[in-house]
Amino acid sequence: MALHRVLPDQPVADLADHRARGGGRGLEVARRLGADGTIEHLEAAGLRGRGGAGFPTGTKWRTVVEYRSATTPTTVVVNGAEGEPGSFKDRALLRADPYAVLEGAAIAAETIGADTVIVALKHSFEAERRRVADAIDEVTAAGWFPGASVRVVAGPSAYLFGEETALLEVVDGRGPFPRVAPPYRQGAESLGDQDGQTGQVVLAGPGESTSAPPALANNVETMANVGPILAEGPDAFRAVGTDGSPGTMVFTVTGATDHHGVGELALGTPAAEVIERVGGGVLADREAAFVLSGVSNPVLLAADLDTPASFEGLAAAGAGLGAAGFIVHDDRTDPVAVALGVARFLSVESCGQCTPCKQDGLAIAAALAELAGHPGEQTSDDTLDRVHLALETVADGARCALGRQQQDVIGSLLAAFPAAFEARAEAGADAGPLASVLVAPIVDLHDGRAVLDGRQADKQPDWSFDDVDSGQSPIDRLGHESPVTIG
Ligand code: SF4
Repeated sequence: MALHRVLPDQPVADLADHRARGGGRGLEVARRLGADGTIEHLEAAGLRGRGGAGFPTGTKWRTVVEYRSATTPTTVVVNGAEGEPGSFKDRALLRADPYAVLEGAAIAAETIGADTVIVALKHSFEAERRRVADAIDEVTAAGWFPGASVRVVAGPSAYLFGEETALLEVVDGRGPFPRVAPPYRQGAESLGDQDGQTGQVVLAGPGESTSAPPALANNVETMANVGPILAEGPDAFRAVGTDGSPGTMVFTVTGATDHHGVGELALGTPAAEVIERVGGGVLADREAAFVLSGVSNPVLLAADLDTPASFEGLAAAGAGLGAAGFIVHDDRTDPVAVALGVARFLSVESCGQCTPCKQDGLAIAAALAELAGHPGEQTSDDTLDRVHLALETVADGARCALGRQQQDVIGSLLAAFPAAFEARAEAGADAGPLASVLVAPIVDLHDGRAVLDGRQADKQPDWSFDDVDSGQSPIDRLGHESPVTIG
């Protein structure tokens, strides 16, 4: 049975409607409990971040409190910059119930003593920006944020905007270029260009310091879960899900399925059941071959589709939950075409701050284009070897996870389907051209099908949409101070 803890079956009309459905009680409970009690509830519930990494939310909040500044209030940032291919859950949540997300943010602001709350959305998310802005007006008038100002920051369409440190850079008015990541995020408005190294941050120590405080950044779905946990209690939250992944997840299912959509199910639901219940099952007369959860994890093979869709279940199967955006591929799909689509997406979206990520990523995509027999590309004896070689180094010295994503997705496709890659390498031009699978963010769900961002196919590695790529990396072409509407 579909659940509706955070994703209502009908959109919430306004704040009164949110209250009529039980909303607002979580904030009242949090105010009674105070900061320690609120964090204890989150820890007891075992809520894990729904943005992909699955980091324990209570631990994150406690850490931000422990590292706070005696002189500078901190900031709550809601990460609504959804751009993982295959995922539409955060946009669906914001469209259906922005009040639940803002209630979680209000609880966070009171708990950590924030004076600023920022909801970070892509500039292109027009419907969500309007919905959130209207909801902010209502909840601030209702006294949800007595000590904090709340605003929307509209950022670029670049994939990296969703990366937490890149998102903080955008909040600071710079381009979406990931910082060198310390274990905890520092500052939403504190970081300047330090010796030409924008994004090189220094950690505050535990205990109240005079340094800049860490910012608390949480994903949209994570925030939407906070209010119900406070209102109903940790045991009610744990009533569904697994020990390691309590609660529900809003899954997106697209690809070779009867229909596409989003649906909230208990974590730990077998992957095949998720595909059946959210996507109506694999297309008639076809069989599932493999499933990708976005472009952040190794593939889940058809033989493993009975795996519980939880953080620990999918990891044990050699795959990963990520943002729970399942892209289903059937037995007609050529894994080489998928590998090329993913490699192209990741190499284009790489920002170029780390040379191996950009250059080896582009080398992987170029070699796979050779295998696919694209015009002007010819396989040579070492084409497949070059893919393997570049995969070994693509994540060297990487600031963020993007280089590793190439290794996980492309590496797992190579390992699972070696014959498909070897056959194309051996056949050379005789194999004929193979169209790449478009890998791109979902811009909408329409009549049960996902609409992908077709502009992605024309995006150049320098993040322009020019006819010819300049050969510069995005960071060199645009610079750190690039406007937030780029790409
Ligand atoms: Fe940019 Fe890649 Fe480095 Fe991440 S790993 S910061 S995407 S170059």
